Amino acid sequence: CRILAIETSCDETSVAVVDDGRKVLVNQVSSQIETHRQFGGVVPEVASRKHVESITRIIESSLGEAGLGLRDMDAIAVTQGPGLIGALLIGVVAAKTLALAAGKPLIAVHHIAGHIYANQLVQPLAYPALALVVSGGHTELVLLERPGRFRIIGQTRDDAVGEAYDKVARALGFPYPGGPHVDRLAVESAQTVPLPRAWLEPDSYDFSFSGLKSAVLAVLNTAKMKGEAVDPAALARGFQESVIDVLVEKSMRAVKAFGAKQLLLCGGVAANKGLRSALSARCEAEGVPLAIPPHALCTDNAAMIGAAAYLKFQTGEFAGLDMVADPGLSLEAWSVE
Ligand code: ATP
Ligand code: MG
Ligand code: FE
Repeated sequence: CRILAIETSCDETSVAVVDDGRKVLVNQVSSQIETHRQFGGVVPEVASRKHVESITRIIESSLGEAGLGLRDMDAIAVTQGPGLIGALLIGVVAAKTLALAAGKPLIAVHHIAGHIYANQLVQPLAYPALALVVSGGHTELVLLERPGRFRIIGQTRDDAVGEAYDKVARALGFPYPGGPHVDRLAVESAQTVPLPRAWLEPDSYDFSFSGLKSAVLAVLNTAKMKGEAVDPAALARGFQESVIDVLVEKSMRAVKAFGAKQLLLCGGVAANKGLRSALSARCEAEGVPLAIPPHALCTDNAAMIGAAAYLKFQTGEFAGLDMVADPGLSLEAWSVE
């Protein structure tokens, strides 16, 4: 089964061709980061216009790179949501047009299912699996009892991890997206500014990061008022340690409680070096198999959408041409039948 997949949920225009939800034939990504950087974050209206400008060209160049035509595809898949409505619409319209013109079935994909199934592009998954989703808009622990069955057992009650990283980075004077800068800075000091950890109720798998972000801002503001200097690296390190402690601890507790055979790390923040190494060390010590996609498959890309789309291809759950982009699409409701 060969699927052409399209992803336009945020600020990356991407087109991929994936075989059997496992093998990537091509995965082209055009990032708009340079355009949005001058505004300090993604501007939805600008994102939509950029997607319109690039989508046709990327579809053509991806098929060209793979040496394939639309007739070689078994289905056309596209991110239905969540994401920015104007951005999602461009991908959805493009996918419907291709499906109609080539007479191929259409598959609507959940963006976070894509982030999770990016792991399947590297190795087969073992079920039950537990996914730790850490991205710009999401922080969730998702239990997969079997392929394509998603159960959210915990999620952030306020900011997503990536969002907290970006806000802290901005306060430290770094450009958007700031996560990688904080990650790099965190290892540049031997000192740590101690910051709080939000464990919430003892049995909760939920997260909270806005208090931690506020604590970082409070340290900076207090120092400014007193005319004192703050070591930005020690502050970045304190922030990163608090984030990682909670993510690792709750993930390991959930793996045990639900008998997961594998832990899947995914989403843009999975690129974080501190998180990768802390989670790897804990999983190794406790004998839990850990999967982390390579960097290019952690951030937004269409190959992961092609991987998740294969779940619905197998069950024959195709979308009609009346399918609409849904910024609030539910992951659990997207589960296969
Ligand atoms: P969602 O998938 O929830 O819709 P998104 O697609 O915008 O959100 P991704 O593209 O998956 O999010 O991830 C982008 C986020 O990852 C940004 O917040 C960015 O700062 C963060 N990020 C990237 N690299 C790192 C890193 N090394 N350390 C921390 N955060 C990082
Ligand atoms: Mg992005
Ligand atoms: Fe994403």
